[in-house]
Amino acid sequence: MTGPSALKMEANIVMLGTDSVGKSALTVRFLTRRFIGEYGDIESIYTHNVLVDGREITLSIWDSSHSECCETSLQERRLQWADGFVLVYSICDRSSFNTVAKMVQHIKAAKGLQGAEKVPIVIVGNKRDLQHRRTVTSEEGRLLALTTDCQFYEVSAAENYHGVLVAFHGLVGRIRESRLAVRKPAGIKGIVKSMSAVFGRKRTDSL
Ligand code: GDP
Ligand code: MG
Repeated sequence: MTGPSALKMEANIVMLGTDSVGKSALTVRFLTRRFIGEYGDIESIYTHNVLVDGREITLSIWDSSHSECCETSLQERRLQWADGFVLVYSICDRSSFNTVAKMVQHIKAAKGLQGAEKVPIVIVGNKRDLQHRRTVTSEEGRLLALTTDCQFYEVSAAENYHGVLVAFHGLVGRIRESRLAVRKPAGIKGIVKSMSAVFGRKRTDSL
């Protein structure tokens, strides 16, 4: 592939997590750098061009609203649509953390059937600014990510843009890796094929 299409990347990201953990706050912070406090409860997909490592990427971010989270047909639609997932919990809400742990298994079971490559998932512990109300330790988050082969970040959508940026960029990196992993076997096969063609021809030439 050559030309601009080879340079242009598109990726779909789904935000998941229980109510009020900060899915909308994180999405809006990433896309506008702002924290506005209240976000309503609207299910929406935002499409934006963003620069990641100097490359322009068209990201579509599906910001879920929890009320519709349990409807299975919508769940499935999100799973199929997504290239990567941001699973959000609040460090002040243990049940939101437990839900993320369940979601990882659910996504892996659903997506894993399509191939051996790993599903790009970032686990985000939000509301880091509320230390005095913390009920989930950083270690627990890190351990969950480690045992499920996901990335992990603790952030505060309210207080820090940079941490949120790093988390989204981490996910884009994972999506890129997973696409390369899919292409690699074909690439190697191609090289072996062309090498054997060269050697094969040489041998026939010399005969
Ligand atoms: P969603 O239901 O997961 O989309 O959650 P929202 O983004 O609507 O956020 C729920 C509430 O938590 C809102 O009142 C936000 O202002 C607040 N919130 C979101 N992120 C943070 C954060 O990092 N720190 C604090 N202190 N509050 C936050
Ligand atoms: Mg929301």
